[in-house]
Amino acid sequence: MDLNHIALNEIPPQGASYKVADEAVWVRRLGEFGVSCRIVEPVEAEVLVLPQEDGCLLRGVIRGVVSMPCNRCMEETLVVLNQSFDEFEDYPRDGETEPEGKEPTEILDECVVTMEGGAPFLDLAALLWEEFSLALPVKPLCKPDCKGLCPECGKNLNEGACGCVLDNGDPRLAALRQLKVKRQG
Ligand SMILES: [Zn+2]
Ligand SMILES: [Zn+2]
Repeated sequence: MDLNHIALNEIPPQGASYKVADEAVWVRRLGEFGVSCRIVEPVEAEVLVLPQEDGCLLRGVIRGVVSMPCNRCMEETLVVLNQSFDEFEDYPRDGETEPEGKEPTEILDECVVTMEGGAPFLDLAALLWEEFSLALPVKPLCKPDCKGLCPECGKNLNEGACGCVLDNGDPRLAALRQLKVKRQG
């Protein structure tokens, strides 16, 4: 089965179910887009594809465990994925790259449904990448109260204080810092 090229007009009216456990779908794009995320436990997806007259209903779930650097302290952080989705993809007109009104963003810049000679084709791998990247937290935290790194010495403050004297409370020093920034600019 070619995940990138599913002929939607060959799917029966009751739809077709796909189970995808091929990590290449996600691993290749993680590398391509430079996303700091590593798959720790198998990522799997189940999708029901239901073609309609002018589009296609895509309903399913993505599950797995990945590891990402904590947004504050950079420590490896486990993220459990359990993302269900329910989407409707419009069929684009022939020659159109994206359905109207849909702004492609950098990381999701792939067409999920394309028309070829009037027949719709589904790129299931592109859809699964889209759902996977939407499931990833924007700012993963190793724990809700992560103390992060010391801005002076870079020590992980979850492991204890570092002894640096921080000046965040002092408005006079804050003014000095701004001066420094201005001079550099
Ligand atoms: Zn952290
Ligand atoms: Zn420090």
